[in-house]
Amino acid sequence: MSLRPPGGRVEVLITREEIDRRIGELAAEISSDYRGQSPLLVGILKGSTLFLADLVRRLDVPHEVDFISISSYGNEQRSSGVVRLLKDLDCDITGRDVLLVEDIVDTGLTLHYIRQNLGTRRPRSLRVVALLDKQERREVDVQVEYVGFVIPDRFVVGYGLDYAEQYRELPHVAVMGPDEEAAAGGREA
Ligand code: 5GP
Repeated sequence: MSLRPPGGRVEVLITREEIDRRIGELAAEISSDYRGQSPLLVGILKGSTLFLADLVRRLDVPHEVDFISISSYGNEQRSSGVVRLLKDLDCDITGRDVLLVEDIVDTGLTLHYIRQNLGTRRPRSLRVVALLDKQERREVDVQVEYVGFVIPDRFVVGYGLDYAEQYRELPHVAVMGPDEEAAAGGREA
């Protein structure tokens, strides 16, 4: 299946139905692991918002939600690992069970920074759930406890993920066609 939203052609990689099913499985696993606890889910803005919204509605443990926003110095499609905190958490996480909610782990550099930063605040536990994982691109060894889908090394958009702030609203995860990817600045193999 392919569609042509404003700006170029994208192809569906993971359908809305596959995402729904996998989020149900993740929510069941997380609910079971956090039984008797009240975790704080921390969404990493902005890409994780759709995933977080769907995930929390499937959890059956009490929980709270907070957000963190970071900016990565790099170009649109490549993280440099040098990270700046744009918005910190509203709450104190000392002694809390924190579950970081991430859209995609690529090199792992961003998550490595956030794990280290939050880790210094002495949470009781700190885990990560990521919808997508580009394992073959990993540059640092970073722990990701819950993974939705392992995907190939392609630039993806949709379901919260953007290219230049576009495509976040797509209900599925899509890869940009080769022409669009090249026009968007290309990716080293
Ligand atoms: P990392 O630091 O792991 O290399 O990059 C993580 C961040 O880079 C993600 O949170 C996301 O914002 C961005 N990113 C990495 N790969 C992709 C991709 O394929 N598509 C989009 N839209 N963003 C990506």
